[in-house]
Amino acid sequence: MEKNFKPDTICIHAGYKPGNGEPRVLPIVQSTTYTYESSQEMGDLFDLKSDGFFYTRLGNPTLDAVEKKLAALEGGVGAMLTASGQSASLLSVLNICRAGGHVVCSSAIYGGTFNLFYKTMKEMGIDFTFVSPTSTADELRAAFRENTRCVFAETLANPSLVVTDLELFANIAHEHGVPIIVDNTFPTPINCRPFEFGVDIVVHSTTKYLDGHAVQVGGAIVDSGNFDWNNGKFPEFTEPDESYHGVVYTKQFGRAAYIAKARCHLMRDLGAQAAPMNAFLLNLGMETLALRMERHCSNAMEIAKFLEQDDRIAWVNFPGLESSPFHALAQKYMPHGTCGVVSFGIKGGREAATKFMDSLELASVVTHVADLRTCVLHPASTTHRQLSDKQLEEAGVSPDLIRLSVGIENIDDILADIKQALEKAVQ
Ligand SMILES: *Cc1c(COP(=O)(O)O)cnc(C)c1O
Repeated sequence: MEKNFKPDTICIHAGYKPGNGEPRVLPIVQSTTYTYESSQEMGDLFDLKSDGFFYTRLGNPTLDAVEKKLAALEGGVGAMLTASGQSASLLSVLNICRAGGHVVCSSAIYGGTFNLFYKTMKEMGIDFTFVSPTSTADELRAAFRENTRCVFAETLANPSLVVTDLELFANIAHEHGVPIIVDNTFPTPINCRPFEFGVDIVVHSTTKYLDGHAVQVGGAIVDSGNFDWNNGKFPEFTEPDESYHGVVYTKQFGRAAYIAKARCHLMRDLGAQAAPMNAFLLNLGMETLALRMERHCSNAMEIAKFLEQDDRIAWVNFPGLESSPFHALAQKYMPHGTCGVVSFGIKGGREAATKFMDSLELASVVTHVADLRTCVLHPASTTHRQLSDKQLEEAGVSPDLIRLSVGIENIDDILADIKQALEKAVQ
């Protein structure tokens, strides 16, 4: 954006500026192709010599506007929307790591990401070393190898709500000449801006708060433009890409080399692009993101405080609470609030948890999180079902953990629902 607008203004205005007589609202460009006067112009686009759209797999005006808005929110040089959060995580790593490569990864990550890395990408020949999110500098250093290509972590982990010490992780990555990729889905750029703490690449599942209405599955990769690819370790950025007429990404795209390669190389070949309709819906959601996050956080704080003082509750995990071991890190990295997710255990374990969930009337039991409607989930029997007890423990998910995603309804109604369900669950 031309001006230095505040995040809530960026949410509404960045990315799309209509010209005279054009629609005020970002249009859905439901077209695969774009016409040009001459084949020369078209050829220049294919050669990446000029800017413009030629095929929706590689770029589309609706996607482009939303990408610009997200890049502005994160403070990056560029972004690329993907079909899902899963494909964003996949492409973010593949862009710098091929068979024979190695990644240092926090063990406190989303279950789907863990499966992607631990099984699918391992089968593709990429090795992962999982480290504790509370590792010391030396413990992190010990995980690096000659072939380590990047570090991966989550700012605020789903569902464990572990807050990663971003500066520590970033410093150790940079000490080894590699970038750090961070999944910023839970806090969103409204509550955490990882690039300000040395993070190089951010990924999102836009399916969550960014959309917020549970109407589209999507993902995104955002490039800070800060990593120096010219350190001898990344020839894929500094030497010609023969599959693209010898383009050298750092020369042609400068600071935006990473995100340009993700698009020109990986999106071209793997085709995990977002649909224009989904980008339109995502944009509608993002317009109210700042407002929604404020309410999610204040509602979640009230719920967490209520649960903490209730003696039917075994434990509460919410980084906004002073009792949280992650309170100090949350204050540092997310001073205005974390997110709307609170996890807790009920006395009486798994059985009481099930009874509690079945008794909720306002909150719905769904495999979703970060929605404007309050929803609740038991990860050990759903999203994290494929993980062994040991893997569950490493991911910070105890068998009795209930993940409550506090919505933006009136706090009195959410509290009343929880109270009546607790009455039924714990006699
Ligand atoms: C949901 C989620 C993902 C996966 O995103 P999809 O859009 O479901 O593919 C990745 N990371 C985090 C933190 C998530 O919550």
